[in-house]
Amino acid sequence: MLSANMVELAYLLAAVLIIFALKGLASPETARRGNAFGMLGLGIAALVTLQMDAVQNYAWIVAAIAVGGLFGGVVARKVPMTHMPQTVAFMHSLVGLAAVMIAVSAFLDPVAYGIANAEGGLYMASRVELFLGTFIGAITFTASLIAFGKLHGLLSGQPLTFAGQHLLNLLLGLVMLAAGIMFCVTGEMLPFMMMLVIAMVLGVTLIVPIGGADMPVIVSMLNSYSGWAAAGIGFTLGNNMLIIAGALVGSSGAILSYIMCKAMNRSLFNVLLGGFGGDTAAVSTAGAVGQRPVHSGAAEDAAFLIKNARSVIIVPGYGLAVARAQHVLKELVEALLAMDVQVKFAIHPVAGRMPGHMNVLLAEADVPYDIVFEMDEINPEFSDTDVVLVIGANDVTNPASKTDPSSPIYGMPILDVSKAEHVVVIKRSLAAGYAGLDNDLFYMDKTMMLFDDAKKACESMLQALD
Ligand code: NDP
Repeated sequence: MLSANMVELAYLLAAVLIIFALKGLASPETARRGNAFGMLGLGIAALVTLQMDAVQNYAWIVAAIAVGGLFGGVVARKVPMTHMPQTVAFMHSLVGLAAVMIAVSAFLDPVAYGIANAEGGLYMASRVELFLGTFIGAITFTASLIAFGKLHGLLSGQPLTFAGQHLLNLLLGLVMLAAGIMFCVTGEMLPFMMMLVIAMVLGVTLIVPIGGADMPVIVSMLNSYSGWAAAGIGFTLGNNMLIIAGALVGSSGAILSYIMCKAMNRSLFNVLLGGFGGDTAAVSTAGAVGQRPVHSGAAEDAAFLIKNARSVIIVPGYGLAVARAQHVLKELVEALLAMDVQVKFAIHPVAGRMPGHMNVLLAEADVPYDIVFEMDEINPEFSDTDVVLVIGANDVTNPASKTDPSSPIYGMPILDVSKAEHVVVIKRSLAAGYAGLDNDLFYMDKTMMLFDDAKKACESMLQALD
């Protein structure tokens, strides 16, 4: 059994390792190392916690680890990369639920948690901690479930709006705060439960008006909420490790949300309050999609273009992930480089379905990091580029975000692919992307549509190059 000082020291070491993990995860080059640091840090934290006096029943813990580990193992193996955003949202809901359950159990038996005096009266500081941990956890729980439903297609991705929605949210928020304050003053069950139930309802009402286009920000915002919920519960449990790890997750999630908001030209304040950006969120224009004539070509035509180009920029999108075309794409890139064609990748911050989705795919195929560029770095280069190969990307190249003030994505920075001399777009049809919008890029004179699955198209182009 470690002494209290040793436990705190081990927690400090674990916290430092988690900070190194976050630092490592900031770049694809160091992400693996970052992950290893994170696993080591959390492993140390778990082992140190398990040997503490407070742990009295190992049977339940072993059973929970077995069930959770089995579930997590199956999910990790079975869930395709394209379903990762909803999986992450579901995981966040579990963090929120865990925070709520710990808070309820601490409220019901405060003496066991050491947060009450001998008569069972909750300390004032503990009431505030319980209040914060419970309501953030409850909002995270239900909001993440709704985000999961929307991303998984169980619920409509369209914003659900109605008159007086913001007023309702404001009222719910105020009543929840009032119940929370009453709980802090009285320490009674009724205001505690009222606060808990209203927070759960608020989690739903805040997320339903948010449309598909804002979902990436919501997923990362819920990540942040889940961190704060964990930190809040860390105070209740008097566990420094949970406080530090929760605060790190909370703040890094908030920073990521801010970066994504900037990338999508959304206001973080609006996203946080839920649906204030509803009028700019995704709406389906499916009826108008694909009604105009396009220039289409075969893989051989595309191969001819890229083979004879001096410079090619590849813009990967969600379709690359669906087709799992990253490995054959890497072979295509190698073939082009061997022909002295300059090849670069352009990554939009919200391409795919989760932050860093494209970076992960390209890293999986061992695409060298030095030819992969972020949007701001590469945008000035499109006008000097011979051919842009758009593979399974749609929304992130849609010029409507610059030219059409009525478009739901108006203001979102995009990759300036239309400035290149030639554009080849590989996708299976003229169908819309995630935001449900038609894309003028497909109808431009300089654009050639190559209608095929991304993997098959890359294989055919590679064959044609050979
Ligand atoms: P889009 O969703 O805009 O478009 C993807 C395109 O891929 C579709 O138009 C589809 O067309 C095509 N496609 C699908 N399967 C295949 C296939 N097998 N082969 C070839 N093409 C295929 O993707 P983008 O990456 O351009 O944009 C991402 C969108 O997702 C943005 O709107 C963003 O806001 C949103 N989002 C992003 C998240 C993130 O964190 N990155 C999270 C959640 C949403 P077709 O069916 O014709 O083949």
